[in-house]
Amino acid sequence: MELTRRDFIKLSGAGLGTAAIAKLGFTMPALAGTEPLRITKAKETNGVCSFCAVGCGTLVSNETGEHGQIVNVEGNPDCAINFGTLCSKGAAISQKTYIDGKPNKERLTKPLYRAPNSSSWKEISWDEAIDKIANRIKETRDANWIAEDDALDAAGNPTGGKVPALRTEAIGALGSAELSNEGSYLYQKFMRSLGVVYIEHHARL
Ligand code: SF4
Repeated sequence: MELTRRDFIKLSGAGLGTAAIAKLGFTMPALAGTEPLRITKAKETNGVCSFCAVGCGTLVSNETGEHGQIVNVEGNPDCAINFGTLCSKGAAISQKTYIDGKPNKERLTKPLYRAPNSSSWKEISWDEAIDKIANRIKETRDANWIAEDDALDAAGNPTGGKVPALRTEAIGALGSAELSNEGSYLYQKFMRSLGVVYIEHHARL
């Protein structure tokens, strides 16, 4: 039916009761219902958001199966750090792997290497990448090893003696919020075993 503005105001003024609704042609019964939750059949796992050093607790729901896709991420209300909240980065963390149900094409899954003076990257194997990193660390450490320092007296003046130093100042270590407490502990222990003294975390940058 055609409804003029005047008709509409008249109907509204009289109160949009059942009779008026019927006059408008809305004769369908009201249905109450909800869509089934996407997490109904999902498996829920506790997690920690890896975007920053706050370390908010998450509840991650994913489809069952070997490579079950994540269908929901929300804050863990039992986590004393965030009490169920997540910032926009944490709430969108599943997009690291899937965007709109499809694997995120921007996600790197293999190491990339850019040779000196080259302007392009090439994929290399993990073995090759780890060998390169190990060789660079060894070369840099050997070339910049500080075996001893001048001994100083209480006033800070050299005594003419030497004390062991056993460090290198040519390598810096940058930790990551992607690491757990235990991973960070092992990482800094490993760096100290190499004599690295510049050990930092990216949350302080
Ligand atoms: S949810 Fe936000 S604040 Fe919490 S750890 Fe992730 S990025 Fe940091």
